[in-house]
Amino acid sequence: MIRVYKNFEKVPTILNSDNRKEAFDKNIQSKDYIDKSNLYKVTSVQNELAKIYHFKCGYCEKDIKDEDIHIEHYRPKSRYYWLAYSWDNLLFSCGQCNRPKGKKFLTKKCSNLYAKEPFDDIHTLGFKYDKEESPMIINPEKDDVLDDIVFDKNAKISSHNERVQYTIDKACNLNRNGLVENRIKLFNALKRRVVKHIYNKDIIGLESEIENFIEECTIKSEYYAFRYFILKHVTLFFENRTIQKVVLKVIDKNIQTI
Ligand SMILES: [Zn+2]
Repeated sequence: MIRVYKNFEKVPTILNSDNRKEAFDKNIQSKDYIDKSNLYKVTSVQNELAKIYHFKCGYCEKDIKDEDIHIEHYRPKSRYYWLAYSWDNLLFSCGQCNRPKGKKFLTKKCSNLYAKEPFDDIHTLGFKYDKEESPMIINPEKDDVLDDIVFDKNAKISSHNERVQYTIDKACNLNRNGLVENRIKLFNALKRRVVKHIYNKDIIGLESEIENFIEECTIKSEYYAFRYFILKHVTLFFENRTIQKVVLKVIDKNIQTI
């Protein structure tokens, strides 16, 4: 759930089309989401979101290739039927994160009802609603929580921030088996290479190994939050003093790029 940057002013043209307006009006009349064609679900919107989300799920950061990809409604369309085509309500996530989230949308304050907002205003209503409702689930387009995310040595994710913890446990199940396995696999691959360099007393090789890992640690990388956490908490993941010393030295040299 790393922060991504969406241009809220640059609404995909199709979301302002006449048939979206008609579907919006029908939903309003019925006070329910009744659009059987799911008109928010179109390739142009999906492609735009994929770019914004670096081709990763907005919650678990899994690469979207081979994934069941969903255009996800931050505020569920069943309850917030007037926000079904709102650009700021359409997020990008994998099916495994979206399914448990489903219709959940816990708020700390009120829960807004439709207040006759016109179709022209729907794409940025979320900002006003966020202040009024104070939602529990993290919105990757608005919340920067990278430094609130914690991993243990077994690649299990948690947080002291109650909203992040709610998102992990109650909304998206970010400690599900396959996902934790993928993260641990990523770390074990690094560890294997690092240990091999130590075994061969190849400190230059070890340094370049860590440099490569740092280079690969960008917001575009799969599981960036986990990679970032490893680099920030080297002593938790590597007990060997030599490894710790070398890794910390290389990180120090490359601190700007992490
Ligand atoms: Zn996901």
